[in-house]
Amino acid sequence: MRYLITGGAGFIGSHLTERLLEQGERVVLLDNLSTGSMENIRHLKGSEHLEYHLDGIENRQLLAELVDDADVIIHLAAAVGVKLIVESPVRTIETNVNGTQLILEAACKKKKLLLIASTSEVYGKNTRVPFHEGADLVLGPTTKGRWSYAASKALDEFLALAYWKEKKQPVIVVRFFNTVGPRQTGRYGMVLPNFVKRALNNTPIEVYGDGKQSRCFCDVRDTVEALLRLIPLERAIGEVVNIGNTEEVSIENLAKIVKQRTNSSSPIHFVPYDKAYEPGFEDMMRRVPCIDKLHSLTGFRPQTSLAEIIDRVSAYFRQKEGLLADAATATRSVA
Ligand code: UDP
Repeated sequence: MRYLITGGAGFIGSHLTERLLEQGERVVLLDNLSTGSMENIRHLKGSEHLEYHLDGIENRQLLAELVDDADVIIHLAAAVGVKLIVESPVRTIETNVNGTQLILEAACKKKKLLLIASTSEVYGKNTRVPFHEGADLVLGPTTKGRWSYAASKALDEFLALAYWKEKKQPVIVVRFFNTVGPRQTGRYGMVLPNFVKRALNNTPIEVYGDGKQSRCFCDVRDTVEALLRLIPLERAIGEVVNIGNTEEVSIENLAKIVKQRTNSSSPIHFVPYDKAYEPGFEDMMRRVPCIDKLHSLTGFRPQTSLAEIIDRVSAYFRQKEGLLADAATATRSVA
């Protein structure tokens, strides 16, 4: 099979690519490196089954050619990370809405199976956890930038499902719940890489708000497994499916567990939301997926415990920092 992955040099995309290549599949990546990085796929570049294009989806000519050659398309390219979204709302909305529209149009010409990545953000301020796919989306006002991400992704979902209903374009929509793991950068504000990096450096861990808000963290290996099980399923076409882990943790406890597992002396500081993001910022207090649908479709539930996830992420940063330290020493000795 030949897979086209948009956003393939991103965090999830690179893990998916790695797994597909291990299985002997062919992978074509399209990535404009806006939030992805060559670093994520450097170790895969030697593979003769990998082809990559550093370009945007808006290059319609290229997109049409790549879609033509693909058996399956996985659309992961998006603006992600709450910090990025609050700071660059135009980019978020345009990237998410225009990108999905272009990929749907292109896929539809050839009726190629298209999997579209959405997010648990779409559940917004709904308080009835766990969230099942049919639940209401409760978004805040348009004056609060955070909700533009959820709204843009909800529009992507509407459009994808409309293409399926009206044009019989096969689509699968997945909603990711706080996917984490090695190679995720803290640059766009995601909590786990930030906590782990700070813990390893013994610098203050910053918990936003009162830390009582909770999340469920899903290891990217589990996310990839869920995707690969969904793709071949006829029954998944036209469906929206949550992908997440159900182990819930408050952000304050997350900080404590990270500290403990990394043997860190970092103090935990509480930072008000309006300092961390912007005045009037609204958070989601609890976010827990219902994964019954994923399980009944695929027989799979994400497996990796929070403790194991934290250990994997800290091993990654330790190795990365080690490599950086080695490189700095090498540069100094050359100089
Ligand atoms: N958060 C935090 N400290 C950080 C980054 C994030 O306390 O350095 C909080 C954030 O306010 C949210 C939770 O951690 O309540 C998860 O944030 P993230 O951006 O990782 O994902 P979200 O679930 O908000 O999309």
